[in-house]
Amino acid sequence: MNNYKLLTPGPLTTTNTVKEEMLIDRCTWDDDYKSITQKIRKQLLEIGKASLDNYTTVLIQGSGSFAVESVITTAMSHEDKLLIISNGAYGERIIEMSQYIGINHVPYRLSYDEVPKEEEIINILKEDKEISHIVMVHCETTTGILNPIEVIAKLAKEHEKTLIIDAMSSFGGIEINIEELGIDFLISSANKCIQGVPGFSFVIGKKNKLLKCEGNSRSLCLDLFEQWKVMDKDGKWRYTSPTHVVGGFSKAIDELIEEGGVTQRYMRYKTNNKLLRSRLKEIGFNPYIQEENQSPIITTFLFPTQDFDFISFYNYMKERGFVIYPGKLTDVDTFRMGNIGEIYEEDINNLCDVINEYVKVVRK
Ligand SMILES: *Cc1c(COP(=O)(O)O)cnc(C)c1O
Repeated sequence: MNNYKLLTPGPLTTTNTVKEEMLIDRCTWDDDYKSITQKIRKQLLEIGKASLDNYTTVLIQGSGSFAVESVITTAMSHEDKLLIISNGAYGERIIEMSQYIGINHVPYRLSYDEVPKEEEIINILKEDKEISHIVMVHCETTTGILNPIEVIAKLAKEHEKTLIIDAMSSFGGIEINIEELGIDFLISSANKCIQGVPGFSFVIGKKNKLLKCEGNSRSLCLDLFEQWKVMDKDGKWRYTSPTHVVGGFSKAIDELIEEGGVTQRYMRYKTNNKLLRSRLKEIGFNPYIQEENQSPIITTFLFPTQDFDFISFYNYMKERGFVIYPGKLTDVDTFRMGNIGEIYEEDINNLCDVINEYVKVVRK
């Protein structure tokens, strides 16, 4: 078994106990398996502080993007219009999805190091009365910027817009009070802050909103309404479910609860992130995102010098057990390091020692 520490934003380093759960072959129509699905659905509501009365969880086969596309195609009718806030690749992906599906949409684009501005959104909403839905990525994993979920939630409430949040890389790692914020659809996936493995994604949706979505979907497989109707009966998935992944995920949720829930996990991630950024700063690496907008999930670092050889750096790190991530920006040379998953202060210190060694010894 390799013991790489994945400093990536998912798939990430998981515990051996989560991996061991996947040694069991489970049967999709067996009651034990269906009860795992039902338990997960309920636990996810608790993690998101959403009540059973008003909210429901729908699990969907596929990576996170499948759930995003499922929400977009199911929540939007032909009369609706979607405002897409975009300051990164995942916001851009929602624009692309809307173009593919043929969703009436309008992008609000920002530079990748900028957070959305309240006044600008108010103006857009005032000028375009057709807008019925707003979608925003919470933690833009492209850069690690954290978008102001409270501000957007308040605006959506005041202007009575349906609010969709892509909380893929934040849910489970950052406290999100779905019901209090009034989020209508929140999307995340198995292999991020809950620390499961890839294979399915999920949507926490307001029941009264979901009920109005029948017949909207332009895709059979991604029809969130139909997926919900079938799953809600007794926990059986529509079409084959990723049984091993679901088993591992259930264990991962138990471990999140054992750790002390989202509050504790957030503290661990935040400690990791602060340590990583301060130690790398000492070594000579500056972050791309300003500190006040930096998420505790993943950080983008600028190359320390123009001739910095990322491939050599990457290989050096990998040989010593750490897998890092290339940057995703076109205009600046960067790389990224995630600090979520089964990663602790000690791992960050070991990682930074190796980086220091590379910079001080190898590059000299
Ligand atoms: C990971 C991620 C997604 C989904 O990407 P997949 O590759 O489909 O899992 C979507 N949005 C954000 C912000 C993400 O971090």
